[in-house]
Amino acid sequence: MQIRDSVLAVSRPTSGPEEKQAIAEVLDSGWWGKGPKVAEFETEFAKMVGAKHAIAVTSASAGQDLIIKALNLKGVDIASPTISFMTTAAVPLWNDCTSNIVDVDPIDLNIDPIDLKKSLKKNTKAVIAVNNAGVLAPINEIRNHFDGFIIEDCAHSCYTEGAGSRGDAAVWSFQAVKTMPTGDGGMITTNDSELFERISPLTWFGISSTYSRTVDMNSKSVGNRPGYTWDYQIDVLGYKAYMIDLTAAIGLVQMKKLPGYLEWRRHIQARYNAELNPIVQRPSHSETVQYYGARVPKDLRDQLITYLASKLIHTSVHYKPLHLHPVVAQDRKYPVADVEWLRLISLPCHASMTEDDITYVIYWVNQFFDMHSSS
Ligand SMILES: *Cc1c(COP(=O)(O)O)cnc(C)c1O
Repeated sequence: MQIRDSVLAVSRPTSGPEEKQAIAEVLDSGWWGKGPKVAEFETEFAKMVGAKHAIAVTSASAGQDLIIKALNLKGVDIASPTISFMTTAAVPLWNDCTSNIVDVDPIDLNIDPIDLKKSLKKNTKAVIAVNNAGVLAPINEIRNHFDGFIIEDCAHSCYTEGAGSRGDAAVWSFQAVKTMPTGDGGMITTNDSELFERISPLTWFGISSTYSRTVDMNSKSVGNRPGYTWDYQIDVLGYKAYMIDLTAAIGLVQMKKLPGYLEWRRHIQARYNAELNPIVQRPSHSETVQYYGARVPKDLRDQLITYLASKLIHTSVHYKPLHLHPVVAQDRKYPVADVEWLRLISLPCHASMTEDDITYVIYWVNQFFDMHSSS
């Protein structure tokens, strides 16, 4: 097969004229910051995931941070899986908590509830459970021996049926390579109204938004105070983490496209499952296929990455276990993650791939294993 003339990305965002139009409308409206688009995005997103409340923020990382701050979880222990993005290990440290990193299940690489049970400390007050690669984390099993707060990290599971409904609060990511990207951005969802009331003011220094204090002069229907009410009172120490309308406008369009994106990602998953050499271990089925994390013999993994790169196919590894990063090194063993991660390789999977792109990846992966199994 002929080598392609441009790189095939492992993941990337997809957009069309609809996103450009949506951004242009916000630019022309004169309201670029947090305003009506953010409110609409929060309402629509809450509806999609079946949550009572949604708060749009600058990122999933900022969202997890605000939840922990709203809960006043300072100086306690917070557990999370070692196969994850750095967010889940870092956010506890931002809040002077200890980061208790737990081993994973060998099949789906989600946090292992048995290892979690062994790792719980007296002061473990929260668990951050990641729905790894869109496969739901075992939150019900975790509840059998943990009665603290559970943050469901849905960065990979937007939108998988049931995701976000099992934790006490959920966090979603719209970072550029996630399933519903806006460039950067995140959402907190929860059914806990009291928690919602505590988090909301933290997104902007404890100040109520200027939009909520601005009356539409034409409709005269907002409250009974004409014009713009400048006054506000700050009761709590807040931060700066709210989403703006330029971002929410992209999110509203991407949300409409999401079902089609996910259908295509599942098609890629189905073709990889059906057509790759049997030596490639298939990942657990995912409804979002945030990434296609295959496993291959560990002595061939890095050679395969280099070989595919020479064919202009980019791949990745999700993830190098967090406990291997010196900044969050742990004094314990990880028998599962330490073995499994060396076999992981994420193959290209995103909404911009064509049928020919999928065929191209399958061809070169199989070519590689044909070369290496004849000896
Ligand atoms: C991407 C990701 C995050 C961070 O999301 P941001 O929106 O970039 O802050 C958190 N957790 C997991 C599992 C992720 O993959």
